[in-house]
Amino acid sequence: MQAAKLVAETESLDADHQTGAVIVKDGNIIGAGANGSTWHETHGCERKRQNVPTGEGYELCQGCHPKNHAEQTAIASCEDSPSGADLYLWGHWWCCQSCWGKMIEADIANVYLAEGATEKFQ
Ligand SMILES: [Zn+2]
Ligand SMILES: [Zn+2]
Repeated sequence: MQAAKLVAETESLDADHQTGAVIVKDGNIIGAGANGSTWHETHGCERKRQNVPTGEGYELCQGCHPKNHAEQTAIASCEDSPSGADLYLWGHWWCCQSCWGKMIEADIANVYLAEGATEKFQ
């Protein structure tokens, strides 16, 4: 979990919601990723323009797109098969539907959130 926090703090491109994820298998970190993209700096956020509520309409905006979520960048970075591995998520207290789908597809065994995440990362 400390590693996920470090990834969030050092690699996230999202200033408001720094999120990081690491994937651990057999005690080794096999993948890590953070959220965000540079899209918002140059294009703004389509979801903000349309007042889309939190957790919805990610596909409307290239910057918010689920492919930029920490869970998915971590899975994409895996040098080894993530099948049966655990994912530690820092910076968020739930995973969007797209990320759940990708984690199920990748056969991630368990997802761990930071202690008190529901209060910490509102
Ligand atoms: Zn956006
Ligand atoms: Zn997501």
